[in-house]
Amino acid sequence: MCSCGGAVHRHDVREVVLVDLPCFGRPTRLVWCKQRWRCSSCGRCWCDDDSEIATSRCSLTTRAARWATLQVGRHGRVVTDVARDLGCGWHAVMDAVVAVGEQLVDHPARIGSVTALGLDETLFARIGKFRTQLWSTQIVDVRHGQLLDVVPGRDASGPCRWLAAREPAWLAAIEWATLDLSSSYRSVFDTMLPDAVQVADPFHVVKLANTMLDETRRRVQNETLGHRGRRDDPLWRARRRLTIARERLSDDQHGRLMGLLRAGDPHREVWFAWNAKEVVRQIHDHTDPELAAGWVAVTSPTARCRSRSNASDAPSLAGRHRSLPGIARTSRTGRPKPSTTWPSGSSASRSAS
Ligand SMILES: [Zn+2]
Repeated sequence: MCSCGGAVHRHDVREVVLVDLPCFGRPTRLVWCKQRWRCSSCGRCWCDDDSEIATSRCSLTTRAARWATLQVGRHGRVVTDVARDLGCGWHAVMDAVVAVGEQLVDHPARIGSVTALGLDETLFARIGKFRTQLWSTQIVDVRHGQLLDVVPGRDASGPCRWLAAREPAWLAAIEWATLDLSSSYRSVFDTMLPDAVQVADPFHVVKLANTMLDETRRRVQNETLGHRGRRDDPLWRARRRLTIARERLSDDQHGRLMGLLRAGDPHREVWFAWNAKEVVRQIHDHTDPELAAGWVAVTSPTARCRSRSNASDAPSLAGRHRSLPGIARTSRTGRPKPSTTWPSGSSASRSAS
């Protein structure tokens, strides 16, 4: 029955050719004979639709669209490759991947309950003539290691908007908020998740310690020799060894490092900075949160440590940009133990004095 109330009768059959799953390594086509109906009263025509076979405006069958999305999204194949397998054009595959992918991303069950939320910046792309950097913020379920979303920019506005769109109950379940040392992400959590304990990412804490060590080395270098590091200067020769974790140095390497410091560091300032870096690294090795909190309090009078038990009376971290951020025991959040060494190729290890 038509919506106008008129009688409906079969008009004709339309054959629609769709790109289907490849068979025996060859592209295949599925011909769908669609019944067309016509209203005798108003003259309107329409076809049968079945989203299990294909959705309208998609030249791939539903199963082929799902397969293509799996190939591109999970297996990381390029669209051109998949299009070659299917024997169709790039745009046909891309449109199908976008259509199916958007359904998957928007599915409410994709993001379950999250108790530990992390934010981190990532360089998304370089665009234009001057290779302008486009940054993005990754929002991660830290406990399950699942990427929840990527929002443009690395300021507070993107993550704030994303969090504002979530249900209050979902936000209330978040106990831990992990971040690097940027003030913008701290303001996101201060604003949107004031009850969550902020946890400094160990990678960034150790990175900061290494940066401070590097700055000390450069300053001492300039003060003692009056110039930037040269190839034969002891501190210049020690620059890489200083950033390696103590336990990864052999006795021989450690002895050589101490020898270089004795030669180039008369007031032992670099030596103290190196020890301070090692102490900061050890904070994350403690398995007892109370002991770790005491360790932070002893080693850095400007640092503050918050735990669930005393979150209410802990001082605010806002404005303490140059002090050690709130450190909670990282293994509580279920995260893998952080790398205790300075990764090769990172900015501080590359930096030269
Ligand atoms: Zn009608």
